[in-house]
Amino acid sequence: MERVAVDLHIHSALSPCGEDEMTPNNIVNMALIKNIDFIAVTDHNSSKNLPAVMTVARKIGEGICILPGIEVTTKEEAHVLAYFPTLEGAMELDEILYAHLPNIMNKKEYFGSQTIMDENDRIIGEVDKLLISATDIGINRLWETVTAIGGIIVPAHIDRKSYSIIASLGFVPPELAIKTCEVSKNEPIEGIKKKFLFFKDYQFIHGSDAHRLEDMAEREYFLNLKDMRRSTLIQYLG
Ligand SMILES: [Zn+2]
Ligand SMILES: [Zn+2]
Repeated sequence: MERVAVDLHIHSALSPCGEDEMTPNNIVNMALIKNIDFIAVTDHNSSKNLPAVMTVARKIGEGICILPGIEVTTKEEAHVLAYFPTLEGAMELDEILYAHLPNIMNKKEYFGSQTIMDENDRIIGEVDKLLISATDIGINRLWETVTAIGGIIVPAHIDRKSYSIIASLGFVPPELAIKTCEVSKNEPIEGIKKKFLFFKDYQFIHGSDAHRLEDMAEREYFLNLKDMRRSTLIQYLG
């Protein structure tokens, strides 16, 4: 068993609310400085910066593994993290999500830019639709879609009073094979378990939900994995 340090909820500059400094190179370098083993860049409803992030990690991120992910906004306005063993899986969901976002365009000066970058942090494009809109995909449909592509879902920051599965549904649908829920950075997991008894059957992870470099997790959240493979982490989470 390996004790692996993780931060599985980080936003890049592709998220309108993510700072411009959240470039592929800066994120990977910061993870190196903080000595994190596994990170996931999970932008709102898109994975278009993942090709660059994964290339950078291959080039300079010695020992760092990237778990491909997206933070999806469901029809119910719940934030749900989707993770995949491969980049292709995340890119496939990206395409589906884009088609299921409303035709509301981003207003940069109001929401911030949605920058797509290459492995040298050069801007190669922008996403036109506003990525923080809710998709029209409900939680059950999302589970089916992600499972069909070989991924798993983890409800995000379930302790939050808005944009969480608890805020929008009040519970985790028991018919969905969900094993893990994410809790906000400074929220004690024991408190959540006491407050909502049905959570006793779930496992929990902390994520930083960082939108700027300094908010990325320290070497503080650990998982016990039998090896450092992405498929092993996926199996652990789902
Ligand atoms: Zn969120
Ligand atoms: Zn987030």
